[in-house]
Amino acid sequence: MKELTDKSILNHTPMMQQYWQIKAQHSDVLLFYRMGDFYELFYEDAKLASQLIDISLTKRGFSAGEPIPMAGIPYHALDSYLAKLVALGKSVAICEQVGEPTINKGPVERRVVRIVTPGTLSDEVLLNERQDNLLAAMLQDKQGFGYATLDITSGRFIVSEPKDFEAMAAELQRTNPAELLYPDTQHNLALIEHRRGLRRRPIWEFELDTACQQLMIQFGTSSLKGFGIECAHLALRAAGCLLQYAKDTQRTAMPHISTITLERQEDYVVMDAATMRNLELTHNLSGGIEHTLVAVLDHTVTSMGSRMLKRWLQMPTKHLTTIENRQQSIYFLQGKFDILQPILRKIGDLERILARLALRSARPRDLARIRNALQQLPDIQSLLADNTSGMHLSQLLSNVGYFDNLCQLLERAIVISPSALLRDGGIIATGYNLELDELRALANNATDYLDILEMKERKHTGLETLKIGFNAVHGYFIQLSREQSHRAPKRYIRRQTLKHVERYIIPELKEYEDKVITSKSKALSLEKKLYDALLDMLLPYLTQLQLSATALAELDVLSNLAERADTLHYVCPMINNQPIINIIDGRHPVVEPLMSKPFIANTLSLSDQNHMIIITGPNMGGKSTYMRQNALIVLLAYIGSFVPASQAIIGPIDRIFTRIGAADDLVSGRSTFMVEMTETANILHNATCQSLVLMDEIGRGTSTYDGLSLAWACAESLASRIKAMTLFATHYFELTTLPNKIKGIVNAHFAAIEYNDTIAFMHSIQNGAANKSYGLSVASLAGIPRDVIKCASRKLHELENLSNNIALTTPLSSRSLPQFTQETSPVIQALQEIDPDSLSPRQALDLLYSLKQMI
Ligand code: ADP
Repeated sequence: MKELTDKSILNHTPMMQQYWQIKAQHSDVLLFYRMGDFYELFYEDAKLASQLIDISLTKRGFSAGEPIPMAGIPYHALDSYLAKLVALGKSVAICEQVGEPTINKGPVERRVVRIVTPGTLSDEVLLNERQDNLLAAMLQDKQGFGYATLDITSGRFIVSEPKDFEAMAAELQRTNPAELLYPDTQHNLALIEHRRGLRRRPIWEFELDTACQQLMIQFGTSSLKGFGIECAHLALRAAGCLLQYAKDTQRTAMPHISTITLERQEDYVVMDAATMRNLELTHNLSGGIEHTLVAVLDHTVTSMGSRMLKRWLQMPTKHLTTIENRQQSIYFLQGKFDILQPILRKIGDLERILARLALRSARPRDLARIRNALQQLPDIQSLLADNTSGMHLSQLLSNVGYFDNLCQLLERAIVISPSALLRDGGIIATGYNLELDELRALANNATDYLDILEMKERKHTGLETLKIGFNAVHGYFIQLSREQSHRAPKRYIRRQTLKHVERYIIPELKEYEDKVITSKSKALSLEKKLYDALLDMLLPYLTQLQLSATALAELDVLSNLAERADTLHYVCPMINNQPIINIIDGRHPVVEPLMSKPFIANTLSLSDQNHMIIITGPNMGGKSTYMRQNALIVLLAYIGSFVPASQAIIGPIDRIFTRIGAADDLVSGRSTFMVEMTETANILHNATCQSLVLMDEIGRGTSTYDGLSLAWACAESLASRIKAMTLFATHYFELTTLPNKIKGIVNAHFAAIEYNDTIAFMHSIQNGAANKSYGLSVASLAGIPRDVIKCASRKLHELENLSNNIALTTPLSSRSLPQFTQETSPVIQALQEIDPDSLSPRQALDLLYSLKQMI
């Protein structure tokens, strides 16, 4: 945008001068400038908006000697345009006319009343109801990262200190903020460059002292000790910047943000970004939401419950008591959910409604919904009064509370279905305020004043034909028949003469008419006052109501898990502190419900004695399904849910890692192999003996020999150094010799039966290694032409014979290596220079493979 100097601004019209003054304070957002019934955008804003939201770009007169580009939208269509702009990651400053139109010349006073940004939305129409919408701030220094997120629609304010790049990437993947603030000193943008809603902020906004002050002011405390975050400097700095930004955009108090929580990695079963993606928790690998764990598991009846369930799934807890509390509650609710869920459904999204109440942007229907929600509480309390599941449910019920008085207040104050907007009136119920009732009665002409006046005038004049009437053009009038009109008193002023009647007005009637007309607008403004006062009466209950909303959301999640366990035949897992994972007859929670045929249940048994299983078998045999199902069962167990198995005992798990599938990361331009290796490196650096690691076909992205060597070395490291609980699916049969070499590894395989050129998969896991590859049968099944399969079959034969000729049993040094020509690649020359006797068995194997490929 063109810089305006103090001098050049004077060249503009007075209105444009006002515009530029406001715009100068909001240069980085679109400015919606209110003019009568329109919001107008000017200059660059107009050009950009016309492209983004498809509104026409016009010109509005001249200012400073040049035409003014302009685009506008009608004021009542604001929400739909805002929705489009924030979905595109844009922010919008709403500038309203706040002054009375001036008698003197000059523009009416205008002020930016709020800034709508993707991360600070609270309007229902702008939000996806079943998804958290977060504002985040991130900061990096040598020690690691500081990260803060705020859900303005609930007041949930959370900070963490991810220690490295991977941990930070996982946080970004999990929280998926709608808007992300980062300092202008951040040079390495690899982590964030493809994220939406990026906002570069000056580094001084991340200053520690200011941050602490800001937070203490927000929470009304004199120190941050009570929150346990005073040492988390990086987190605090991120939180400070974030809070300031939220305040700047909301321009109102945010009393619902009353605490801050530091999340520590050691409290959760950690999943990195790739694992969350691979396990398809909320989104499938193609980016959709169908066929995901959430799609199967989320039958919650409130959107706040749905959002809570997703948070649980993305952050399974390691807190055993929490898990046991949830399990006990689910047991109890299995007998109640069918009655409880319909009641909870009527509660709606109390959490977000309360946030709008706190921000004073609650709409009339929000108050009706609070009332409707509170009306359900006695039913919930009495339904669960016979709670036998222990303290947790009792605590939840105590947090749910009753709120009788508040409910009665809202029942008295708000009509059953109020209109959507305060400005339309019809919100405050009859009987709540006498003055309002009178004004409304007047406005609706529902008084008997006119009857009384008519009688009085008839009596007074003695004229039988006298009537009081009303029409839209002349308003109220006294009407006399033509025959009697000559007897009209002097004070009657003639208004209209018709064929058979004369119509008159008298001062008293005129006064009444004025009263009726003004009473409508008076009723509206009184309603607004009463509404504001009602918000004031509700606000002191905010904290208790928030507590109630959270408890109701949890009740929704728990009764949902009870219903799911019942419907899908899940069992309660046992979580203990032995290093084992024992899952008897486990099923895949997402694949099973999709299948028309019965799903074959499979068992998993891992312990510190047998902590790695090498899984072989044909493609399509069921390896990936098996590995994922076990990870998902562990994850479900750690959110407190029941699991799809006939029995499950699971020991301590600190992290779940997956190295599954090999998709090119096109966005960041990393090749399949690079992605694979980065993810593998992360696992080898961070896995512990309490981690569950899934390795699916590692090494696939590179040549056979590199791949085999890498797979071998990873398996060896995981099994003997890290001793992680590992499921290792591979198509390298050589790896099945690992159990003979390293303690703690066993083989298992998925079998198949070949018949002619086709193959039937058993989908059941068996002990021991697979004894053959079924690649060609699978290829045939997939529709590869018969002659190609035949040719491949011949080639396979040749290769197998060849490999037998260079048998491993022959010492490498005594074998005559093939003679290579001058053109031999440098790799082969290098291979020739190696002294074969100096090689370890594994290196020898690699070399052998390389040679086999060359021949
Ligand atoms: P692999 O990883 O060995 O190539 P997958 O795990 O992808 O095989 O399984 C291929 C297909 O087989 C799945 O899409 C599913 O339809 C079916 N399948 C896998 N496991 C089972 C099972 N336990 N019971 C029934 N069908 C299964």
